[in-house]
Amino acid sequence: MTEIPRELNDDELKEWQVRLNEANRNNIFCHCRHCGEEWVDSFTDIPCKSCGSRNVEYIACWQFPDG
Ligand SMILES: [Zn+2]
Repeated sequence: MTEIPRELNDDELKEWQVRLNEANRNNIFCHCRHCGEEWVDSFTDIPCKSCGSRNVEYIACWQFPDG
């Protein structure tokens, strides 16, 4: 489902990456390992909104494993 389709040319690959970025927009589940805060954001390089810790786990919502 989220695998890169084969046989894409450069333009198609770029378009696929744009769609991937859009899918990530406001779709990153963030979990602070330090204070347990949980929130949803668009970026994976931000510190915890609650305590400022950078010990944060980022999971793209569409990457949640089955079961
Ligand atoms: Zn925190």
